[in-house]
Amino acid sequence: MASIYIETFGCQMNEADSRYIADRALAAGYEIATDAARASVVVLNTCTVRDNAERRAYGRMGHFKALKVANPALKLVVCGCLAEQDRDRMQAAVPHLDAVFGTSELVRLGDALAAWRAGFGDDADEAIEERALLRPLGTAADCITDAFTHLRAFVTVQRGCSYYCTFCIVPHVRGRFDHRPMREILAEAHGAIATGARELTLVGQTVNAYKDPASGADFSDLLEAVSGLAGLERLTFVTSHPKDFTEKLARTLGTLPHLNPRLHLPVQSGSNPVLRRMNRKYTVEEYLEKVAGFRAHCPDWMLTTDAIVGFPGETEDDFVRTLDLFERVRFGQAFMFIYSQRRGTPAALWEQIPEATGSERLQRLADVVNRGMRILHEAKIGTLVRALVQGPSRKDPSKIAAKTTDNVTLIVADPGLPQAALVANPWLEIRVEHAFVWGGTGTLTGIADRYDASAQPVAAPVYDLIAAS
Ligand code: SF4
Repeated sequence: MASIYIETFGCQMNEADSRYIADRALAAGYEIATDAARASVVVLNTCTVRDNAERRAYGRMGHFKALKVANPALKLVVCGCLAEQDRDRMQAAVPHLDAVFGTSELVRLGDALAAWRAGFGDDADEAIEERALLRPLGTAADCITDAFTHLRAFVTVQRGCSYYCTFCIVPHVRGRFDHRPMREILAEAHGAIATGARELTLVGQTVNAYKDPASGADFSDLLEAVSGLAGLERLTFVTSHPKDFTEKLARTLGTLPHLNPRLHLPVQSGSNPVLRRMNRKYTVEEYLEKVAGFRAHCPDWMLTTDAIVGFPGETEDDFVRTLDLFERVRFGQAFMFIYSQRRGTPAALWEQIPEATGSERLQRLADVVNRGMRILHEAKIGTLVRALVQGPSRKDPSKIAAKTTDNVTLIVADPGLPQAALVANPWLEIRVEHAFVWGGTGTLTGIADRYDASAQPVAAPVYDLIAAS
């Protein structure tokens, strides 16, 4: 049977794009492969936000050459931001690639998959039938990676970005803002709920700058509209820009009951001169004002952020201001990076900070962030929390991983339930017992089929419940 293996690098935008590719492949009669060696088509959805991601993607292309040699019929495809950036030279540099698709060519990629499908045999009807059977159960046919993936759906609300931060490649490879019509977003969200998604994430590079092209409705209006969809359990969104974080949005977050209590608001630096050179369009004072407005409406929410250290021209004094900001604001999590030069961006041409200085600053910032995260996680010890199952823990597959609605990872012992039981009852009730920087561990006390349903104890009667449903 024709099958497709998709490997995704980078952000939730790429994850959403990969799900689109998977859907197009399924519609054309492919099945999803979890092993590249067994696939008819291998897709690498690439990222170029940091040098490391770029090198890894080229490394994977090299690695897949052996598959191509072993099976010349295999189609090897690269898409995503690196494909867009290097499109003129990628195929010359990696001649065993069959096709390269830029960020605006996903539809063409889907069309190519449909065209290639006939060359992989004539069992398309069987594949489609099998998919129809598997999809409601959420098994491998509607997932890129495993049986639990479909529980979380990503809905792209906007592509590109018009803000041109001086360190960022996104506007150069994904273009300016292109907001999807609200009716399309609602239709896709409705479809995801209908096929088993328990948590929807609205994704965009600057999601809160959203404007419906027809009506001018803003992101708050969109959140309200999605919240009104029948069957919605949980809703969240990434990534917000501080410039577009309005009082209206803070008020909306505080009132919609389906929203996960987590806001990701990248600050990047605690120094005004650095923010100015980054072209971030806000000052530290303005950022703190936005946070205060947010806290007034959402006092119990988790606030998370991004930070870049070692940006060109960052002095020790600039960096200490960042440390100071992180001491003052309780961030529940921070994605911290050493500045990485991106070809074609202004900051890549500026005088760079020595690598050792960047590494040392990253470590100092991580110490502050980790201390704060641990304190927040310790506050959960002894409480009973609800978390959406993620599947077997990556580090120890004999355990189960889950995420709370405020995005904390919890690990529990595998209750020994059939996989289908966990997929059908994905809300885990967990008593938190130990806290770490990365999350916590605890005891699974029950499972529920919906976020707002009472949990059934994890004991023998649970099997009867599943069998009866
Ligand atoms: S806001 Fe800045 S960092 Fe974010 S995608 Fe746009 S240009 Fe890049």
